[in-house]
Amino acid sequence: MSSLDTTSEGGSKSVRTPVLASLCPVCEASELRGRQQVCSAACRRKRSRQREAHALATERADLVAALDRAEWHHQREAEILQTVRRRLQMTAHEDNERDQG
Ligand SMILES: [Zn+2]
Repeated sequence: MSSLDTTSEGGSKSVRTPVLASLCPVCEASELRGRQQVCSAACRRKRSRQREAHALATERADLVAALDRAEWHHQREAEILQTVRRRLQMTAHEDNERDQG
């Protein structure tokens, strides 16, 4: 839940934004007091697990992207090798014809 409410309505200066106590981002039920970021130790543990899971998912996505890139380069290299080999075979053939002729 976002605490920032961006309304694009202009001119309504008299509208006061009500001061809402921010809720715990984990359980979204308990109000936070002072500089608390989560309401309880349980929510803190839960949040750290969520962050770990998120970090893991991000790392996996990075690895998949790296694998995709490597595969693409590998494919390009295979294409280049094939082209070079074909050119070599062609020039070898030309040499043979020249020798025979
Ligand atoms: Zn909580």
